[in-house]
Amino acid sequence: IQAVSPVSTTAPIALSYELFPPRNASASATLWNTIRELESTNPDYVSVTYGANGSNRDTAVELLNRLLSETSLRPLAHLTCVGNTADELAAIISELLDHGVRGILALRGDLPKDGSSASKEGSLSYAQDLIDLIRRVEQRRSALLCAGKVAIGVAAYPAKHPESPSIEHDVEVLLAKQRSGADFAITQVFFHADHYKDLIRRARRAGVSIPIIPGVMPFTSLRRVQRLGVMTGVDPAPKLLEALGRAEDARESRRIGVDATVDLARAALDAGAPGIHLYTFNEHAAALEVLDKLQLLRPARPGAPKEFSQPLPVRNIQ
Ligand code: FAD
Repeated sequence: IQAVSPVSTTAPIALSYELFPPRNASASATLWNTIRELESTNPDYVSVTYGANGSNRDTAVELLNRLLSETSLRPLAHLTCVGNTADELAAIISELLDHGVRGILALRGDLPKDGSSASKEGSLSYAQDLIDLIRRVEQRRSALLCAGKVAIGVAAYPAKHPESPSIEHDVEVLLAKQRSGADFAITQVFFHADHYKDLIRRARRAGVSIPIIPGVMPFTSLRRVQRLGVMTGVDPAPKLLEALGRAEDARESRRIGVDATVDLARAALDAGAPGIHLYTFNEHAAALEVLDKLQLLRPARPGAPKEFSQPLPVRNIQ
């Protein structure tokens, strides 16, 4: 893989990857191959997604357990609160802590697509409510957690959240999440570096001081980019769609996509991003190619202990 010019920052860059729980045995085999490849790059953490309303709770917990017991990786457990009561969520949080998870990405989750409200009697409405709950559970279990607090991440939106009235409102929500105890934020996918830069500028001006890590996906196929646009409500850049649409084969499409991702990530890093979070779709090759082109790959530290006494995802981020 040919490396292009490195990023201009000299500060340590936090690396992390997003994985999702496998749906069947063959997906599990692919995922574990990916995990071993990613482990060799010594990331700061890997995040594990969680279906809204806990739809994949068992497979998510199983994957988190295996990451903790069979790898040197530190997992960040996504957790959504939509459709769950505080009692149900407190039980899930306790279970995660019992298993050794020390990092949680606190999310609301997407509302059901059929338009029905997710509101069940006593369910939490916003990610901020979930942060408050995690901090309360943490306090109740302070004897267990004497080695260090739980690191809480939250979502941030370079392009407006689809339900939000304005980008200013999004920043107010991010500030509220920080005040409730969020330690860092990871962004939704974005297609224009200016959207990330604007978010940082507006957030800092409003008093948000936590690290805001750009979430980037390797744009390797037109179909995936289009699907992601629909899923997230973020419009893909027309130029990228055009270039991917003109690609003659999968190989060319992948080259175009990786280069576009590298450009986007480099622009975010040049603007001061403290790390890169890669949406891997459980595939390592394109993610590692992006990091290689950014000259951000780093060797594994064999046998390195998991530093649970540290608030994990912020270790290299501040
Ligand atoms: P919130 O911060 O609660 O915001 C939701 C909406 O409510 C926004 O429009 C916000 O402006 C508004 N709002 C928030 N607080 C208030 C308030 N106090 N008063 C008025 N309005 C308010 N989804 C999954 O189902 N599983 C996953 O694993 C998952 N992982 C993700 C990882 C990342 C990095 C990101 C960026 C998103 C992820 N999502 C995941 C998607 C996420 O659940 C959706 O974007 C969801 O619609 C909003 O989640 P949130 O945590 O940002 O919610």
